[in-house]
Amino acid sequence: MGKPTGFLDYKREVSVSEEPKTRIRHFREFHAHLSLEEQQKQGARCMACGVPFCQSGMIIAGMASGCPLHNLVPEWNDAVYRGSWELAYQRLKKTNNFPEFTSRVCPALCEAACTCNLNGDPVSVRENEYAVIETAYENGYASPRPPRVRTGKKVAIVGSGPSGLAAADQLNKRGHQVTVFERSDRIGGLLRYGIPNMKLDKSIIDRKIQVMEEEGVAFVTNADVGKTHKAAVLLKEFDRVILACGASNPRDLKVPGRDAKGIHFAVDFLTSVTKSLLDSDLQDHKYIDVKGKRVVVIGGGDTGNDCTGTAIRLGAKSVVQIEMMPKAPDTRGADNPWPQWPKVCKTDYGQEEAIAVFGRDPRIYQTTVTEFVKNKNGELCQVKTVKLEAKKDPDTGRVNMIPIKGSEQVMEAEVVLIAAGFLGCQDYVAKAFKADLDGRSNVATEPGKYETSAPQVFTAGDMHRGQSLVVWAIREGREAARAVDESLMGYSNLAVH
Ligand SMILES: Cc1cc2nc3c(=O)[nH]c(=O)nc-3n(C[C@H](O)[C@H](O)[C@H](O)COP(=O)(O)OP(=O)(O)OC[C@H]3O[C@@H](n4cnc5c(N)ncnc54)[C@H](O)[C@@H]3O)c2cc1C
Repeated sequence: MGKPTGFLDYKREVSVSEEPKTRIRHFREFHAHLSLEEQQKQGARCMACGVPFCQSGMIIAGMASGCPLHNLVPEWNDAVYRGSWELAYQRLKKTNNFPEFTSRVCPALCEAACTCNLNGDPVSVRENEYAVIETAYENGYASPRPPRVRTGKKVAIVGSGPSGLAAADQLNKRGHQVTVFERSDRIGGLLRYGIPNMKLDKSIIDRKIQVMEEEGVAFVTNADVGKTHKAAVLLKEFDRVILACGASNPRDLKVPGRDAKGIHFAVDFLTSVTKSLLDSDLQDHKYIDVKGKRVVVIGGGDTGNDCTGTAIRLGAKSVVQIEMMPKAPDTRGADNPWPQWPKVCKTDYGQEEAIAVFGRDPRIYQTTVTEFVKNKNGELCQVKTVKLEAKKDPDTGRVNMIPIKGSEQVMEAEVVLIAAGFLGCQDYVAKAFKADLDGRSNVATEPGKYETSAPQVFTAGDMHRGQSLVVWAIREGREAARAVDESLMGYSNLAVH
């Protein structure tokens, strides 16, 4: 354990965010991180609890509590406190292939479950992780380490999001020859085209991919497996295949006027902006432009927030986020005690920026869209909405959101961004490999397993568990890699956690 009285001696300190009105002028990451000396004090706040929920990754009341990767949080917090940065990195990378991603985008389930969070401020685990990985790159600890021995086995991974990359990293370390096939023009999945640049600078992905390439992983972009690259060829050329194609079927909104020009899915919008940023710093104008437009984002969650922050950076005239569900409470309810994941209202960076620019929270709760109105050119000009109230079905006990008569409203809008979640994977890849889907359009496996109904074909990530988090994708990739290794070698010494 670090300093026995650390959590009493030092207050939680985290990076300082650039002011909303300043940071909306660019698409860069906007946190000024603590110095390493200050970060060491934050490491000292960890008490290495006897029962550390931070690393437990348990499901409590249907929600994950603590890190799904079972990161050895107290161990590396202690190493941070002592300034043993190389040891901290060694312990961190034992369970997490990509701390450079999770320390930027993870909602930090570890911090929510930290004992200090019971009646105080949690240890700043995520920023300690950030300091560990960035120091590792600066000091060369994170440089390429190719495997010493090759097994002669070949594995194809379809999809280069965090699950595919984690599986690739693990299997390559084990000595198998890994090739990652990616449909898009760049590697990274939703890390690349989904999560905006201000949350995860794309050079951070490039830095890791270069390390993986030097370690021997091969990457093939613009390879649409099931279309441009045949499943039969992959099955012939590789000993095993892992399908890690994500859950990219967006939930649509089937109301009158849906065909109006100006209505886009959130990921299409976010992808177009990031691609244009990377290709030409937005100079090619090949993105969905919302400058001077009134934007309605449908969905009050994290993806909706990313749309809000991006639309503001592009100069939207106004941004509103419509959410069906009621606003979550500002503090934990009595029925949601620690260490459960706190079901509280979070005001994220995009919403903070909307408040700074437009003077109010962009979210409108308990509301849904009933119609999109088009002008004579077929362009969106208005969005009709209705308020909703929560009513319990006396027969099933289920709470349904019911429209309230007379609460109809009309909003002027030229752009709608649909961020209403995802409904499983695009099924052509699974079909090409003859892998069965489950009732939620994810690739089916036995519970806790990764082998599909198709021989030699495995699956991982959102394509397997449904839309989730980067940290779950990494865990799935690691577990799928172990399953593949076992099936190739008859045993596996690959650590899962
Ligand atoms: C806008 C947005 C923001 C998010 N923000 C966060 C966040 O801040 N923190 C967090 O933890 N999670 C976040 N998530 C969720 C997180 O990004 C996903 O859970 C995670 O990326 C899933 O990883 P994956 O590897 O399973 O799939 P993906 O990241 O979706 O990657 C799948 C890859 O497979 C490729 N592919 C698909 N079909 C084929 C094919 N036929 N041939 C070849 N390649 C193919 C796709 O092009 C894609 O690159 C966000 C999600 C979205 C949509």
